[in-house]
Amino acid sequence: MNLTPFPQTGCIHGLSVPLPGFQALICSNMYVLGKGPITLIDSAPKFPGSLFTMERQLGDIGFSWSDVERIIITHGHIDHFGLVGQIRSAAHHDIPCYIHKDDGWRVTSDYLKSGMWSDDSDGFAAMVGMPVKDIERMKRRSHFFKNLCDPIDDMCTMYDGDIFWTKDFELLVIHTPGHSSGCCCLYERQQKILFSGDHIIKHITPNPFHEVNRSRLCDPSYQSLKAYMASLTRVEGLDVRYVFPGHGEYIEDLGTLISGYRRHHQERTDAIWDALKKAPRSIYGLIGDIFPDLDEGEVFLAVSEILVHLEVLMDEGRAGLAENGPPAIYKVL
Ligand SMILES: [Zn+2]
Repeated sequence: MNLTPFPQTGCIHGLSVPLPGFQALICSNMYVLGKGPITLIDSAPKFPGSLFTMERQLGDIGFSWSDVERIIITHGHIDHFGLVGQIRSAAHHDIPCYIHKDDGWRVTSDYLKSGMWSDDSDGFAAMVGMPVKDIERMKRRSHFFKNLCDPIDDMCTMYDGDIFWTKDFELLVIHTPGHSSGCCCLYERQQKILFSGDHIIKHITPNPFHEVNRSRLCDPSYQSLKAYMASLTRVEGLDVRYVFPGHGEYIEDLGTLISGYRRHHQERTDAIWDALKKAPRSIYGLIGDIFPDLDEGEVFLAVSEILVHLEVLMDEGRAGLAENGPPAIYKVL
C-alpha cells in the first residue's frame, strides 16, 4: 500500500489501514479533524491489528483514542463502521457516533445478528435466478462480513443539510444515496474539501449496490443507480480542491472523474441492452455476457450491477419483463 501522502490542509489528517481480501479497494481511509471537538470520519473494518495500526498513526499526529470526541460514519457498510466499538472501548468514554437516518439499520445488532441474510435476501436470490451453490456462498460471505464489525445500537441520526461544527470547520452533510441508500458526503466549504466516503473513489467506479433488504428501506421505490446518478449531480457543482475518499488516493479532478463514471454506466447499460437482444434472460443468465471472467466469489456484485442497470433500461422503456418469475425474465422492448 503506497498511497501518495494526503496534502497538508490545516488540522485535517488522513489515516489508512490495509484491507486484506479486498484488494480492489486498496485500503480504508479515515480522517481526523484535529481541533475540538476532535472528530473522526469513518473507521476501518475489524480486522486483527486494524485498531493498533490506526492507533499508531493517531499517535504520530499527537492524539490517542481518548482524545476522540465524535465519530461520523459516511455510510453503513462494515468497512466504514466496523471498528467503532473497539475505538469506543479504547477511548474509555462515550463517543457519540452519527450516521444518516436511512443507513442506521445497517449497524444495529437486530440486522447484524441475522448474519445480514433475511427473507428479502431469499426473495432476491430467487428473483435473479441464483443457483443454490451461489446462495450458499453468499450466506457464508455474509457471515464473514458480520464478523468484521461490532453492532452499534446507540447511533445518533444525521440528516441532509446538518452541519457539524469544529473550532475551524463547518462540515455540511450532503445525502448522496446510490452506493447505499443512506450514503453521505461531508463538505467543508472554507477548505474546499469533500469527504466522499464511497460515493467518489479514484481508482474504481463505486458500486450503486442494489438494496436487497427492501423491507427496511424508507422509500420502497428506491433505485440505486438512478439515485447514484442524481447524487453525482449534487456534488458536481461544489467548489472542491480535494476529495478525500473512503478508499485509495485523494482526488483533485472531481469533474473528470464524474464524467468517467457517467460514461462507464452508460456503456454498461448499453452492453446489457445488447446482450438482451440475443434472447430474453434472467439476471443470472446475463452474467456470462456482461462479466465473462467473473470470479465465483463476486456473483452478488455481478447480479446487483446487472439489476440496477436493468432498472434504468426499464425506466427508459428499452427493456421490460417477459415473465415475472421467479426468476424474472427480461426482454428488450
Ligand atoms: Zn461502501
